[in-house]
Amino acid sequence: MALVDPHLVHGCEVVLDESARARGLLEKVQKRFLRRALGLGPFSLVAVLFTETGLEPVGYRRVLLAIGYLLYVLRSPCVYVRLALREIVDLDQRRYTTWIGRLRAVVQALPGRVEFPPPQDLLVEARVERLMGDVTRCMDKALQEEIDATDRLELVHGRTEDDPDGGPPRRVVRKLRHYLRVYNPGHRKALARVLLSSHNLATCRRRYTHNSAWGLRCRFCGEQEETVSHVWLVCGGNEELVAARKSYVLDVLRAATVEEATRIRSLGPTPTLQLKALLDVRSFTSSTAEFAYVVQELAEAVGLAPLGADQVGEQGEGGGVV
Ligand SMILES: [Zn+2]
Repeated sequence: MALVDPHLVHGCEVVLDESARARGLLEKVQKRFLRRALGLGPFSLVAVLFTETGLEPVGYRRVLLAIGYLLYVLRSPCVYVRLALREIVDLDQRRYTTWIGRLRAVVQALPGRVEFPPPQDLLVEARVERLMGDVTRCMDKALQEEIDATDRLELVHGRTEDDPDGGPPRRVVRKLRHYLRVYNPGHRKALARVLLSSHNLATCRRRYTHNSAWGLRCRFCGEQEETVSHVWLVCGGNEELVAARKSYVLDVLRAATVEEATRIRSLGPTPTLQLKALLDVRSFTSSTAEFAYVVQELAEAVGLAPLGADQVGEQGEGGGVV
């Protein structure tokens, strides 16, 4: 075994993470890097780091690399490497500790119960391809369930992407989203924070500390709840905010087609629906990102609405914009 295994895995990214603690160290680095790249705070949801960038969580990524390597061996024209694989599968059947056994353990530990092929099927290319598809589907399902399960992401719920082949728009779990291509990094990060619920408005910053009508009241008007749709589309409590909104609406009207303008107007007076429609239209994205940045800076300059002395928790207020 000690003679066969190193030849199969030498120089390949196929080391399997049997230790959750060791994998956790890699996941920590990946999450920190992606949060920084997207401009999200340390308490942002984890699933969005992957649904918005198209990347795979490192735990799944390393399993997929290992299965990809198994496919590479099966497709290899080199007879010796295929003989080595046959040998390792045979050793696994005889209950020796092998790379195959470790692969089985990590696949079976994935959430979603992926069926691992019996040993003889590991030499069948089509069955290993199916295993790879199963792991990918399991990963996307887990990410989508996390997105659907929280009301923090209502602005991306039900989002669809255009089909490059001309078909109807469809839901895509992981993709580098169009708004992440906005050139200005400040604008791009401000829009990402709004969409992914890591912004500096009260409904995000005080969600877990002062989640009451008083705690969440708008810093500008002091009357309504400080939600994104209220501050972006309704609030009249700050002159600069109102002027920025007017400028944004003019930009949108200039960029919108007749159909787009009609659709947004047809949504009626519900700010959340209008906001989702504005965020959906690609031709407005640069203007929307710029407006997100202006609102973020205005909100930061004014600060959250003050709390009563008896409502300030010992831990203070955290989160929000990094
Ligand atoms: Zn307000």
